[in-house]
Amino acid sequence: MNKLTVRDIEVAGRRVLVRVDFNVSLDKDTGQILDDFRIRATLDTIRYLREGKAKVILCSHLGRPKTKADFRHLRLALVAERLSKLIGATVPVAPDCIGPEVERLVSQLRDGDVLLLENLRFHAGEQANDPEFAHLLAKLADVYVNDAFATAHRNHASVVGVPGLMPVAVAGLLVEREMQYLRRLISDFERPYGAIFGGAKISDKIGILSHFLRKANVLVLGGGMANTFMKAQGYEVGNSLVEDASLDHARQIIQEAKDYKVRFVLPTDVVVASYRKEGTAKAAEIDEATAKVIDIDKVQVEKGWSILDIGPRTVEHFTRELEQCKIIIWNGPMGKFEIPTFAEGSRKLADAIGKINALRVAGGGDTSALHRVPDLAKNFDYVSTGGDAFLRFVEGRELPGIAELTDR
Ligand code: ADP
Ligand code: MG
Repeated sequence: MNKLTVRDIEVAGRRVLVRVDFNVSLDKDTGQILDDFRIRATLDTIRYLREGKAKVILCSHLGRPKTKADFRHLRLALVAERLSKLIGATVPVAPDCIGPEVERLVSQLRDGDVLLLENLRFHAGEQANDPEFAHLLAKLADVYVNDAFATAHRNHASVVGVPGLMPVAVAGLLVEREMQYLRRLISDFERPYGAIFGGAKISDKIGILSHFLRKANVLVLGGGMANTFMKAQGYEVGNSLVEDASLDHARQIIQEAKDYKVRFVLPTDVVVASYRKEGTAKAAEIDEATAKVIDIDKVQVEKGWSILDIGPRTVEHFTRELEQCKIIIWNGPMGKFEIPTFAEGSRKLADAIGKINALRVAGGGDTSALHRVPDLAKNFDYVSTGGDAFLRFVEGRELPGIAELTDR
């Protein structure tokens, strides 16, 4: 990596401000933490700094606070509680992230202590990258560490403003690991290069699809986004999620794949299901009991049914197409995986990928949620913690939060 990391600097006795991404998902009703993988992802860095006798000051955002109630619910107390359990030491939360009281708490830290600052987004200056706000954060510490890979694409004060004000700004161990794997997807890679895309919408992924048309040798599409391509090719897709506004774009992509001589592979069979109530296409009304496999080239998807996953023949077909690849990137689930019946396609494909002798990397917001499931994760060399940051990076775009770090 061409940037300094925590391994390159002296941390003992120094105040180290670490930007982490503790933006965990919370239960809407109870406010409890649903998934603590983002907290776990930073443990290596926190342990490293504590063992190195640093005074560790953690800062993060949580959610998108707007209303008065948000300012109560989006406090970091529960995050601190979980972190305390994970590291086996009490992590207090400061009443704010800047100001005299925070400065006082920082001045009381002993070597190896950890302090968590309150939600950065309680100040508008965070998202606005306000210089004054950045200055008040920067003055809390001697060294800056970015270990918030999933936030590295944002031009926010704690991501780009603060490192610019510090004498030294380095990558944490998570960011270092992300870079090590993800760089292998963008340069000096072996061919054939295989890319698997799925998820909900083409419109979200137009940039990345165009990029991979120029880079990949095999492009495999499943999930909701494949529906629009299938419709563009004249198949009936019933009530499936489709973006009619993207039909022309889909045709253009199919044409470009021919021009670039990329193997462009769509599902050959799909899993469909109908709804409990007629005339609705609401996810909550999907009747899992009606799920069945349909060949896309023989059977039309009847009206009132939706395509919700790829079928078993498709899994085999995709696997054959990817078998020779030396590198495989995967973004976006193959089906509506939140309902277990429709997670099967993604699971089976992941198991098949696990047997291919290639560098296999998965990433994306929902993708990493799916692939974190341990028996899926074992099929990959690396599962990124990034959503948009992952997509941008593999598209070859610079991440501002990484660019701001001190060069080697
Ligand atoms: P990522 O966040 O990994 O980039 P996306 O946000 O693009 O992925 O897509 C994830 C969403 O796509 C999930 O909520 C999943 O339910 C949905 N999805 C996948 N396939 C289908 C489908 N056939 N019909 C409806 N939704 C789908
Ligand atoms: Mg998503």
